[in-house]
Amino acid sequence: KKMVYYFGGGKAEGKADMKLLLGGKGANLAEMTNLGLPVPPGITITTEVCKEYFEKGCQFPEGMWKQVLEGLAKIEEEIGKKFGSKENPLLVSVRSGAPVSMPGMMDTILNLGLNDETVKGLANSTGNERFAWDSYRRFIQMFGNVVMGIPHDKFEALLEKKKEEVGAEADVDLTAEDLKDLVKQYKELVKKETGKNFPQDPYEQLRMAIKAVFDSWNNPRAIKYREINNIPKDYGTAVNIVAMVFGNMGETSGTGVAFTRNPSTGENVFYGEYLKNAQGEDVVAGIRTPQPLTKVQKTSSDQTSLEEEFPEVYKQLEKIREVLEKHYRDMQDIEFTIENGRLWMLQTRTGKRTARAAVKIAVDMVKEGLISKEEAILRVDPLMINQLLHPMIDEEDRKKAIAEGRLITKGLPAAPGAVSGMVVFSADEAVELAEKGKKVILVRHETSPEDIHGMHAAQGILTSRGGMTSHAAVVARGMGKTCIVGAESIHVDYENEEFRVGDVVVKKGDVITIDGATGEVFLGEIKTIPAQISGEFKELMKWADEIRDLQVRVNADTPEDAKQGREFGAEGIGLCRTEHMFFKEERIPVVREMILAKTEEERKRALSKLLPMQREDFIAIFKVMNGLPVNIRLLDPPLHEFLPRTEEEFERTAKEMGLPVEEIKRRAEELHEVNPMLGLRGSRLGIAYPEIYEMQARAILEAACYCKKEGIEVLPEIMLPLIADDKELEELKKLIDKVAEEVFNEIGIKVQYQVGTMVEVPRAALIADQLAKYAEYFSFGTNDLTQMTFGLSRDDSGKFIGKYVELGILKGDPFMHIDENGVGQLIKLAVEKGNKVRPNMKTGICGEHGGDPRSINFFQKVGVKYVSPSPFRVPIARLAAAQAKI
Ligand code: PEP
Ligand code: MG
Repeated sequence: KKMVYYFGGGKAEGKADMKLLLGGKGANLAEMTNLGLPVPPGITITTEVCKEYFEKGCQFPEGMWKQVLEGLAKIEEEIGKKFGSKENPLLVSVRSGAPVSMPGMMDTILNLGLNDETVKGLANSTGNERFAWDSYRRFIQMFGNVVMGIPHDKFEALLEKKKEEVGAEADVDLTAEDLKDLVKQYKELVKKETGKNFPQDPYEQLRMAIKAVFDSWNNPRAIKYREINNIPKDYGTAVNIVAMVFGNMGETSGTGVAFTRNPSTGENVFYGEYLKNAQGEDVVAGIRTPQPLTKVQKTSSDQTSLEEEFPEVYKQLEKIREVLEKHYRDMQDIEFTIENGRLWMLQTRTGKRTARAAVKIAVDMVKEGLISKEEAILRVDPLMINQLLHPMIDEEDRKKAIAEGRLITKGLPAAPGAVSGMVVFSADEAVELAEKGKKVILVRHETSPEDIHGMHAAQGILTSRGGMTSHAAVVARGMGKTCIVGAESIHVDYENEEFRVGDVVVKKGDVITIDGATGEVFLGEIKTIPAQISGEFKELMKWADEIRDLQVRVNADTPEDAKQGREFGAEGIGLCRTEHMFFKEERIPVVREMILAKTEEERKRALSKLLPMQREDFIAIFKVMNGLPVNIRLLDPPLHEFLPRTEEEFERTAKEMGLPVEEIKRRAEELHEVNPMLGLRGSRLGIAYPEIYEMQARAILEAACYCKKEGIEVLPEIMLPLIADDKELEELKKLIDKVAEEVFNEIGIKVQYQVGTMVEVPRAALIADQLAKYAEYFSFGTNDLTQMTFGLSRDDSGKFIGKYVELGILKGDPFMHIDENGVGQLIKLAVEKGNKVRPNMKTGICGEHGGDPRSINFFQKVGVKYVSPSPFRVPIARLAAAQAKI
């Protein structure tokens, strides 16, 4: 069985589409090799080997080692060096590479193959003693940490002490002699910590490193990352063993990372960072702040760009940028190293980007002829659109804050959004406070994979070190969190739980505001405004609208929500919940009067007070939705929800109604239900108290007539909730039609209206054909339909549903993603039955699932005509509907 794939000398055994087997890194190294790009030779051990390794209780499968040695021999031949040689040793990097990129989550070891003998060979063969010993001390540090489990800090402490001793400002100021001594100290540390000598046999080092990379697949931070990002736990990781090229050989060497387009804005410009005389980890770890790749990226005159420093290498990189973009037809994130002026490519992968960049890149690439409109639509994750709708800082308030001296510093704008929150300095604390409902901003020197849970819990992240590709920046962008990095004037003091900028001290718990679009950090809270939508976004949405079949409406109970929905592209209101109009503070007394009325007379009197209020509500909404359908649902919740609860409320109500408190309490008692969700609610209210629905129908139709007279185009739809039987529906439709006739006669004008039903009781789905005789349309209330089909309380299941998902009993929360096999089948059946009675019947979704991309895909398949989510989900639904069609 083939367990190891070779690449080198312009030819590779693997290719880009073998990611599942070779991991992302391995597959792309192979692809770049085949493209003729300068990639150092290497081998990839497959993810299948990783799986077998775990199945065998953490043992290498038989035959693997032999294949590794054969591969190593090919590398030696290609590069003309020998592994373990005392004259001209081959060194390798050993890196993880999962099928889905998990940045910084798993282990990497560089400079492997060094020992007390080969380090001398390296010094001789390169004529650079300092470099050789620097590589050796880096190797012991990394191997000691990653493979032998010695805390990184212990090595760092020795390094810092050494620097102090000899008066070196930076690592690069240490001499060969200093480094030799440091190596000695490092080895002693290893012995002290583990009781073992640092392994001298390069083959033993290699075996241990491979094992460590496999094991890192199951380290806690990788497990957490997979959980958050929905990455299957059985993928496993590949291991890449690649000939080392050295960015730490001196002033003509360096290492960097770059994006073929700006990952934050999407602009079509080369964008990246590099460090001279450094190895790859130095950039990502955010230890030194890197220099910009290009001239235009420079923000101050004491920076030197790679473009200026290494013009030849830069030109070559520009060409590679072009080759890669043409080939992959997507923005790439690359790693490179310059060894004595010579460029080497160490990685390429599809670059992570903000939503704003994702949209811009997708639209630009269509215009550049690289991809089709359909591909562009598929490239943007609908849920990411949320980010675009992120708030921005209110300009007026910003100016005010600056005038007040509250702008304390500026860092690099790593991920957009403007957020305020309490400062915390540890990931655990961020989680703790977030769980209590607090908004927090995590402030760190830099973040590491150990901080993932805290980053997830925080509103935003602020670091004092690191660049745009540091851990914090990359991870925050992926999560859609606001983030500022490299705010260097901030001095973070973990011990005293505070940070300082000049003489400003910000303590734990103080509120700050960070703007991830500009990098600005403010004291206190600042007003934010809703995001503005770019031209590219509008263009992409236009394409989505051209492609999709599913219509998108909006759930809105107020003119404001209706307006917001319409601005986001909604094609009508799919659900207007009228009870929200009852709940208004000043109306509650009248509503109570209606509910507590003893006689029909009394009730009608109260209703006549409510009628003009409701009519005004509908007029306002019809005006906003001019020309678009508005689906209004008659009263749904059990009446007792409106009743007084506290003693104080009882007394007030009694006073208002001129009745004794005892009387009010008795009436309230009478309305009490053991199981109100299955009690007197929905259309059952309409049957029990027809006057209520009569009033609502009248308010809707009077409003419609009034608007029509004003020249507004009204398309009212009147919807009956919680219908379970066709007789119920027949009765209530008759009532509405009777009211309509009266209203039209009184006002002397007619309006087209429709009467429809919600399908939210399983029985309604089962007898949908009988309902379709009376209902002109169906709207699936998937919240209740899920609740009643599962027999699972929508208000209480949150407490235990997580357990079901964790155990794999349920694939996801059925209130979030539609349960295709159960609830979904009822929807399918009802659509079919409805269509039999009314060909091409109008059917829609008005439950939460109407804004969930995964569910939308299913609704498209079963022939539903529209979905109706809350306003901010409208753009998401439009894009998801287009994706469902493609
Ligand atoms: C539903 O049940 O899915 C629905 C839209 O109605 P409500 O959420 O108001 O019960
Ligand atoms: Mg409902």
